[in-house]
Amino acid sequence: MQEKNIVILGGGFGGLRTALNLEKSLKKGYKIILVDQNTFHLYTASLYEVAAGELSNRCILLPFHKIFKNKKIKFINSKVNKLDPKQKVVETLSGDKIPYWKLVFALGADTEDFGIPGVAQHAISMKSITDAEKIYRKLLRCSVAGKAGAVKIVIGGGGFTGVEIAGELINSQKCKLDIIVVEAAPKVLAALPEKISKEISKRLKFLGVRVITSTPIKEIKEKEVVLADGRLIKYDIMIWTAGVRGSRFLDGTDLPVDKRKALVVDKYLQVKGYKNIFGLGDTASTGVAWTATKAEEDGKVVAHNIAAIAKGSRNLKEYKVFEPPFIIPAGKGWAIAKVGSIIFSGKAASILKDFVLLYYLVTILPLPEAVRVWWGGECEVLEIRAPKVNL
Ligand SMILES: Cc1cc2nc3c(=O)[nH]c(=O)nc-3n(C[C@H](O)[C@H](O)[C@H](O)COP(=O)(O)OP(=O)(O)OC[C@H]3O[C@@H](n4cnc5c(N)ncnc54)[C@H](O)[C@@H]3O)c2cc1C
Repeated sequence: MQEKNIVILGGGFGGLRTALNLEKSLKKGYKIILVDQNTFHLYTASLYEVAAGELSNRCILLPFHKIFKNKKIKFINSKVNKLDPKQKVVETLSGDKIPYWKLVFALGADTEDFGIPGVAQHAISMKSITDAEKIYRKLLRCSVAGKAGAVKIVIGGGGFTGVEIAGELINSQKCKLDIIVVEAAPKVLAALPEKISKEISKRLKFLGVRVITSTPIKEIKEKEVVLADGRLIKYDIMIWTAGVRGSRFLDGTDLPVDKRKALVVDKYLQVKGYKNIFGLGDTASTGVAWTATKAEEDGKVVAHNIAAIAKGSRNLKEYKVFEPPFIIPAGKGWAIAKVGSIIFSGKAASILKDFVLLYYLVTILPLPEAVRVWWGGECEVLEIRAPKVNL
């Protein structure tokens, strides 16, 4: 009997969880195929370390071949570039045409520039390992060239990513830094409780990061940022963290998307109007904040539902709307956490973040491997070298 393909696009938090759970629950007759443009699974919280040049024990780029060792999951390393829902086929840049019985969209989010001139040309976003490497290379350049005065870094956006990257970079030993976070809302982390926003602002001030609030960025030029109030800020490195949207891949399809360009899904995470296509994580709107926790929870629901359909059951799971817990680090050994209604900060929150990583690793790797990676990190696929500088 011909095997039915379950094709998962994207091996981030949601796609990986779907693949691993399906592999446990489905036996004969089905082939699980995961397609990703990278050869590794990225633990996004480690991007800050890569950007700051600290390829330390929290740097996690896990090769898929290690995660899928001894598992019946076929991995295809390629960029997905076409979908034909009528023929039920996806195509990749390397020319693979992959027919599917069920398709899972887990391609994550892309950067949104809200049409602000210069963002795409001049700013580095913080979405991928390439972005983090770009920031690190610029820092390296300044340290090799022995730049006089501080290196000016402007960060557009005072959300999670903006404050975390500011807190991480300010500790960089590479060169003297002058970091400014520019936020359009009246406070950083505007969507979170007042207490968190206040504590983070205090912490950033303590670290020497300047914050400008209630001021949208109007334009980004080659060497300076134009603020809505007319002020100009010169920069050496411009980082854009102010906007995300659903995967740009969806722009080339007829699948239904909402105003954040994320898939419109029903309560079982099936794409509206397409029963054999599922959406999850940052690529699907469910009213839950786009986080790794949301993507993982969605992945569990999708795996359950595909396995149920495969077994002829009508017992499908509905996704739940919940408030994901979070831990926001800002500088070495300090973080603020919110778990349920409890908010706490300091060293304890920072230690908790390390244990969250261990817990995650244990769910995707055999225990000894998980502990090894947790203790020592896994970033050897990166080869960042100091650029040649003509002095
Ligand atoms: C810097 C940073 C720090 C973060 N820190 C936290 C945190 O501490 N806690 C938290 O809960 N959340 C955090 N997040 C958010 C979290 O990473 C996302 O919400 C989560 O990754 C979403 O999971 P996903 O599976 O939807 O997508 P992703 O994890 O983004 O995975 C998408 C996958 O699809 C692949 N892909 C994309 N396009 C293509 C294509 N065309 N072809 C093939 N493959 C493709 C990508 O390579 C990637 O592997 C952070 C995000 C960033 C950017």
